[in-house]
Amino acid sequence: MGARSSWPLARSVLRQFNLLVSYNRPPLAYAVRCNSTVAAAAEAAETAKSPIQILRTIAELRFWRREQLVKGLAVGLVPTMGALHAGHMRLVQSSMRMNDKTVVSIFVNPSQFAPSEDLASYPRDFDADIEQLASLEGDDGARVDVVFAPRVDEMYPNGIPLNVAEQKGAFVTVHGLSEQLEGKIRPHFFRGVATVVSKLLNIVTPDRVYFGQKDVQQTVVVKRLVQDLCSGTVVHVVPTSRDANGLALSSRNAYLTDQTKQDAAVIFKGLQNATMVYRQNTSADKIIDAVVLTITEKFDKNDIEYVSVNDKDTLEELQTVHPLKGAIVSLAVRVPNRFGGKTRLIDNILL
Ligand code: AMP
Repeated sequence: MGARSSWPLARSVLRQFNLLVSYNRPPLAYAVRCNSTVAAAAEAAETAKSPIQILRTIAELRFWRREQLVKGLAVGLVPTMGALHAGHMRLVQSSMRMNDKTVVSIFVNPSQFAPSEDLASYPRDFDADIEQLASLEGDDGARVDVVFAPRVDEMYPNGIPLNVAEQKGAFVTVHGLSEQLEGKIRPHFFRGVATVVSKLLNIVTPDRVYFGQKDVQQTVVVKRLVQDLCSGTVVHVVPTSRDANGLALSSRNAYLTDQTKQDAAVIFKGLQNATMVYRQNTSADKIIDAVVLTITEKFDKNDIEYVSVNDKDTLEELQTVHPLKGAIVSLAVRVPNRFGGKTRLIDNILL
């Protein structure tokens, strides 16, 4: 579908955050927690006041998991990076409905961040996360049982420099699905995601694992990962949760001004217009034009990094959408944030 199939990268993603993060300077929350005795006391207090077990080590999680296996109980896993919102909660509720026990992992995974990205400033609020999770109750009284919140060195015992060339040890790449769309702009992103998901699946060995439609390429990558690495876990994809105006919920929405949040309604409106155009015309170019036209009601065309129409399984770019197969329409837009810079928003819809 050539040049028109996706909008060219307006600018390098390196411009996104002016923040340089070095591995030698660990994220603040992590550094603070490493301050051993204080941290241990705080963690004991956390555990005491919450009905949820907070486990920090792989050994503790494995011990817990063996108990569930012996009891014959089904375990669901919801991997997150914390800063939880209603979108995450929907995944957790799906797990609580379908499993006897639910584990939520909270881990800001360094290997999916480029050195220029926002690892150090990524929103973290562990206490608020636990509070939200503790307030959830399923119809049958189900609750979140375990939060797995490992430290970085528990997950990456060899260390994890953000510069991929300096990384040592085992990493997982899902070739063929990691290079397009988000992978074009964030070349090592899905290697980081596939690696941490593999680790979490090996640690928790859940019966089911839950991901959001919001990160559609991630769902395609993870499904292939699970299939190709012969994992016994079943992947469930949960629909995108949105604000009243259609803005997809995201932890990074905390970076946005109220005005931008309002303006960002055009993103979902654009995707809905894509669906309307598709009913009359299956040409990808026409669908993309409709999305771009709507988004440029509020945002600069140069800030649209891509709008693309792709196959749901192979992520191949399409020129026309086959009505029996449908397609993914996905996009990334850079919108003004509270810090005078730009934040990338991604969204998608299935045709
Ligand atoms: P994150 O903490 O951003 O890594 O997200 C953890 C999980 O929540 C991923 O599977 C995301 O796709 C999912 N998620 C994030 N935002 C939403 C949303 N608005 N609706 C549904 N799922 C979401």
